[in-house]
Amino acid sequence: MPLTIVTVPCLSDNYAYLAHDLATGATAVVDVPDAAPILNALAARGWHASHILITHHHDDHIHGLRALAAATGARVIGAAADAHRLPPLDEALAPGDVLRLGMEAGAVIDVSGHTIGHVAYHFPQSKAVFTADSLMALGCGRVFEGTPAQMWDSLSRLAALPPDTKVYPGHEYTAANARFALTIEPDNPDLISRSQAVQAARAAGRPTVPSTLAEELATNPFLRAGLPAVKASVGLPGAPDAEVFAEIRARKDRF
Ligand code: ZN
Ligand code: FE
Repeated sequence: MPLTIVTVPCLSDNYAYLAHDLATGATAVVDVPDAAPILNALAARGWHASHILITHHHDDHIHGLRALAAATGARVIGAAADAHRLPPLDEALAPGDVLRLGMEAGAVIDVSGHTIGHVAYHFPQSKAVFTADSLMALGCGRVFEGTPAQMWDSLSRLAALPPDTKVYPGHEYTAANARFALTIEPDNPDLISRSQAVQAARAAGRPTVPSTLAEELATNPFLRAGLPAVKASVGLPGAPDAEVFAEIRARKDRF
């Protein structure tokens, strides 16, 4: 039985997620931008948070952590690499560690780049990966603490997951990401149709998440830096993948 996953909009454009195991009742909250909407979403379903999974130390992902932990008594889990700059963790995990959630075994993946120590949580049986500010819908996080090459490696680890994996990012940035992506690949038919779907979803007030990894591989310019057509499009034919990624990231920073 796959986890039931609920998207919880928080603050202006953040997402938290609930991941609920029906068999055991175990419920993980992934990131805590704000406690109140998460507590409301739990209460609406009669679920009790058993775990809180933190992806990275930025305030917009942990702002409500102390309040949610106090209100629920949930076990707070984050990366050992971030333990010195997070509120107290009950469990500090390293990349490669396995996380038990009900019947499911989750994997901790290092996705450093946006920050050093940023982790993604992958639940292979449920075909879900929580990526926060690493891989986003049609985009990726800005590279604040790591290097572009490190971010490229992180995205490559995510890109190697099964293509039917659902991608749950930390923000609703998809419409702006789509406008930028079209500057890199204006003729990509999958990107054109996805951009239209994104605009329609936002106009209707609907989240554009989750996507699938297959959709990202077909349309997300940051995952496509290794393709000859993309290299040529940014004027770097034959350049190493990481260099092309760095150029695309630099263009997005100025966009
Ligand atoms: Zn962040
Ligand atoms: Fe963020």
